[in-house]
Amino acid sequence: MALMISGADYWLAIEKMAERIAESKDYITQLDSATGDGDHWVNMNMGFTALLERKEQLKDLPLPEMFKDIGKTLMTSVGGSSGILYATAYLAAAKETAGKTEITLEELSRALQTMADGIMKRGKSQPGNKTMVDAIVPAAQAMQNALQAGKGDAEVLTAMKEAAIQGAEATKAMAALRGRAFYQEDKGVGHLDPGAVTMSYQLSALADSLLDQLG
Ligand code: ADP
Ligand code: MG
Repeated sequence: MALMISGADYWLAIEKMAERIAESKDYITQLDSATGDGDHWVNMNMGFTALLERKEQLKDLPLPEMFKDIGKTLMTSVGGSSGILYATAYLAAAKETAGKTEITLEELSRALQTMADGIMKRGKSQPGNKTMVDAIVPAAQAMQNALQAGKGDAEVLTAMKEAAIQGAEATKAMAALRGRAFYQEDKGVGHLDPGAVTMSYQLSALADSLLDQLG
């Protein structure tokens, strides 16, 4: 049977993402200190802490309502560019999935694409600008490609995860056109973009959490 993703399933992924972010404090802070202002981990961790505090209100919501609540919670709890960009992404995903209690992997891939589109519109950014966009756009695309090729659920999720990780790694060679790294003399070339790395952590955690459920 095809995998169906409910709010409860997504909540498990959120817990995995929160854990992954929490344990990456020193590494992400070091990355954002090299090309930005050093607060990216603090911002992301603040957001996930706020989400975990809302566990009882969130964990059983239908998916679109959960996405909407996540967006609002991140909007008010996360400082910096990433707060507004993630809030925009989740509010877009809420609209995209409106009326559904559970979604298929196909619908998840469309939701990820909508999130990426929301971030790019809000951030006036594109793939190749050395931002979180460079992790989520390839991830959504790889998922769509795998689905179109008729791959099984596990392969679709693995393709999504690998594309997110590779996309984040590719930011190392990029010269920044958006974000604080743009204001560095070297445009951050030679350094990973912290926002792309934390995006890849979240997408990997989402894939891993859904893969766990496939058994
Ligand atoms: P700030 O840059 O305001 O200090 P954060 O440190 O929390 O905010 O987040 C920085 C990350 O946000 C960057 O590493 C980059 O991935 C992402 N980012 C910044 N500006 C943009 C933008 N215009 N479009 C997409 N992503 C962006
Ligand atoms: Mg910062």
